[in-house]
Amino acid sequence: MWCPTCKAVTSCKSVYVRHVNQYVATARRLYRTNHDDVQFYRRGRKCQTCGHGFMTAETREDFIDELVELRDTLAAIKHDTEQYIADSEKTSKSLGSLNESLGKLRALKIYQKQKSK
Ligand SMILES: [Zn+2]
Repeated sequence: MWCPTCKAVTSCKSVYVRHVNQYVATARRLYRTNHDDVQFYRRGRKCQTCGHGFMTAETREDFIDELVELRDTLAAIKHDTEQYIADSEKTSKSLGSLNESLGKLRALKIYQKQKSK
């Protein structure tokens, strides 16, 4: 099993959930009330290498596929949003420079003569 502390696949013993988190519900078969299709079986685990205790949830494999797809999509949206904000800041700065140049142009007599025609 993959240990989140060791960041590696290690031997992790199945333990009673209260041995990992004393505040967690003792029910082992669980579901999300607002997503009744998200059902899982909770297990407490203890890493035999580092001693870290953590919870796991046994669930349908297609749910994991859906989770990965959602994470990838969210990461792409985050990337695009950050790129849009960076581009908008560049555009804003560029518009400021253009406006400043237009101000200089408007100060020229030749610009004022052309405008009055
Ligand atoms: Zn570990």
